[in-house]
Formats: sequence, C-alpha cells, structure tokens
Amino acid sequence: MPYITETIQTQAVKALQELVAQPSFNQAPSSGAPFGKGIRMALDQMLAICNQLGMRTYEDPEGYYGYAEIGSGEEIFGVIGHLDTVPAGDPKAWDTDPFDPVIKDGVIFGRGTQDDKGPTIAALFALKALLDAGMVPTKRIRFIFGTDEEILWRGIAKYNEKESPIDMGFSPDSEFPLTYAEKGLQQAYLIGPGTDLFTLHMDNAMNAVPGKADYDGPKLTEVKAVLDQHGFEYEDHGTSITVLGKSVHAMNAPQGVNAVLRLCIALDDVFDFAPLDLIGKCFLEDATGQNLLGKVADESGQLTFNISSFEVSPKETRLQIDLRIPVTIDREQLVAQLSKRVQKYGLTYKHFDYLAPLYVPKESKLVQTLMKVYQDATGDLKAEPQISGGATFARTMHNCVAFGGMLPGVPDYMHQANEQWPLDSMAKTMEIYAVALKQLCFE
Ligand SMILES: [Zn+2]
Repeated sequence: MPYITETIQTQAVKALQELVAQPSFNQAPSSGAPFGKGIRMALDQMLAICNQLGMRTYEDPEGYYGYAEIGSGEEIFGVIGHLDTVPAGDPKAWDTDPFDPVIKDGVIFGRGTQDDKGPTIAALFALKALLDAGMVPTKRIRFIFGTDEEILWRGIAKYNEKESPIDMGFSPDSEFPLTYAEKGLQQAYLIGPGTDLFTLHMDNAMNAVPGKADYDGPKLTEVKAVLDQHGFEYEDHGTSITVLGKSVHAMNAPQGVNAVLRLCIALDDVFDFAPLDLIGKCFLEDATGQNLLGKVADESGQLTFNISSFEVSPKETRLQIDLRIPVTIDREQLVAQLSKRVQKYGLTYKHFDYLAPLYVPKESKLVQTLMKVYQDATGDLKAEPQISGGATFARTMHNCVAFGGMLPGVPDYMHQANEQWPLDSMAKTMEIYAVALKQLCFE
C-alpha cells in the first residue's frame, strides 16, 4: 500500500476509538444540540480531529452540521459522512461495551465502527496520508458531517440550505464498489370522500408492504366468500378477519404480497364505492403500478408503487402511497399523470415527502475514476457500478455517489450488536480512498 503507512493506520484507529467512545445516537434536543448532546459532542470532537490535521473547520452554531476543509480554489470536492449512529440496542446482545471500542484479534468493536464513523475516519486519514506526503490539493476538499442520517436527515438539509454546494464528491456510507443510482422516493396520500357503508382503520408504515389487514365491518360473509374465490389467505376470528400477505420493504414491493390490496379487492366486489374501484378494477395487485400508469422503467429498474394503507371513515378515504421512481423519469409528469388517473375514482393526490434520486451517469469522470481505482486496488476488473433502491446522503448532493467503505466479504454489522470492522479491511479501504482523492483532488 503506497499511501497508507502503519503510522497513519495507528493514528486513524486512535481517532476512531475516540469517536466511538462518544455515544451519538439521537436524544432529546437542547440548545445547540438539535439531536441531543451526544451527537453535538461527537461533532465537536470530529472537528477537533480535523483541526489537528490542519484543516479549516466550521460548525453550525445551531449544531445541525459541521465541515472541515483544506485546499483552495473555486471547486469543492465533498466527502459526506455522518456522525450519528443508531442506539446500541440491548447491551446484553453485545460481547463488549458498545461505547468502549476495544480491539481484539485485529478487529475493532463498537457502535459506529461500520456506520459511519469508521468509513468517515478512513476517508479523513486517507487525506492525511496524502498531506503528510507533502502533496497539495488542486481544489478545496470539504468533509461534511451529517448529524441526523439515521432519522430524518435534518442536519444535511440545513447544510444544503445554508452552505455552498459541492461540485463533485462521494459518501463513504455504503458498500464498494459504488452506487451511481438510487431511485427517487415520493411518498404521498390519495384523499377522497368517506362513506357510511363500512370503515377501515389502519396504522401502517409507508415504507413497508402491509402483511396484514383487518376487517370487522358489515357483509363479512360476502367478503370472505370473495377472498375464498380469489384464493386469498385470511384468518377467521368469527366477527372479524385478518387478510394475510407478505411484508417486504417498499423498495421491493413487487416481491411482497399486499394484504391491504387483497382486502380492498374483496371489498370492491361487495360494496359500491368509487375509491375501491381504483384497487379492484384497475391497480389490482401489481406493485409496479403498471395497470394504473403503464410501464415506467429505465436502467435503474421499474417503478415500485406501494399502497400501505386504505383508511375509510364516514368523512374521508385516505390511502398512503410510496413510489420509488426510476432515476431518469420526470417525477412531476408522473405525479401529474397519477393525479389525473385517480380523479376518476374520486381521489385527490396530496404530497407528503420527496427525496430526489441519485444519478451520476456511468460514463461520468467521477464514476469512471472511482471504479478504476477500486478495480486496480482489488483486482476485481469485473466490478460494476451499482443501482440501489435504498437511500444514502449521496443523493443530497450534486454529482455525488456512494463509494465504500465496506469491501465485499466484510460481514455487515450495521445497526446490529457487536458492530465491528477488521482493521486490515479498514486499511484497504483507506488505501482506496487515498488513491481516489489523489486522482480527483491532487492532479
Ligand atoms: Zn450510515
């Protein structure tokens, strides 16, 4: 490894230990600490480490984010990591104290070693290795530290509101080789009139295919008959039923079985109520939304369309929907088309939340350079840039991809007990980051 010396490795591990020793999961807000004191202290600490490396640092006075920078010029290359972690969970599930990072047999243990303190430190000390070798960056390199990645991304949103955008960058918060596309994520409601025919109460998460749907209203016998006819499974509790499906994450909706849709298909046969026709006569069970919108697809895959709840009261009907939109599809056009189609069923589209897609073309300098660096470092010349249905901070920034820091074969301990990262793997990741930074920011 030409850049990552043993000295650098030792320094990086020491910094990681300090950072892991500072618990930084989301807690009650206080002044200057919108996500709790622990996260603010981790941010302070990280910026102090950057200071020691000779970087200029800035900390948002409200405590939403911080960044550290080195180099000069107009152009900014960003490295986007996060310092918050999920909580440790059940302490009994851990073999060591999650906030006392010990090293055993060349492996460092502790909350945040993989997600995302470890990879962020790896990228930072990769930079230090280049600086220690006397190299001078040809642009500004800015490390941006998020503080609310595990919850609502409010920290990075504040950064984008107040600070300069980057020109190019990566987020070390995923797996190698590289993620160049993440679908757009649109969550919304479809709202319509209520009815006195029956009611439906649900309390389902938007981002999951519902595996169960209860019904205890009128015409239960008829509803059961239709379920039987379709071969839809349900539990019979006498005065109520639970329709059964298979719950999966909304990004994989076509692989699940949606119990709410199955119940609605049955109800539509029994009751004359326009909003039900959307499901029973049009959408059916196709979670790509093809029956409603036609085929919507590109190289990042097909649209996924999850309907997670269908609530009916005398006053209102309310559906929750979660759309994962292929990266090159015009979202506004799609939403306009959807709004128009559901009108026929008395429903109105109502926006809830949107995350823009990540898409940096495979032919771009950024993807080409990083892929080549990865291939040369690992010898895996067949490695391909990846598409993901998930979401990383990369999508919050212009011209930014997710790049590492987990190498293939490293067991995934993110969000789990005994979170750990083998130090030889960490060193390899640092070497890849060093070469990448050298090629993109020092030449
Ligand atoms: Zn993460």
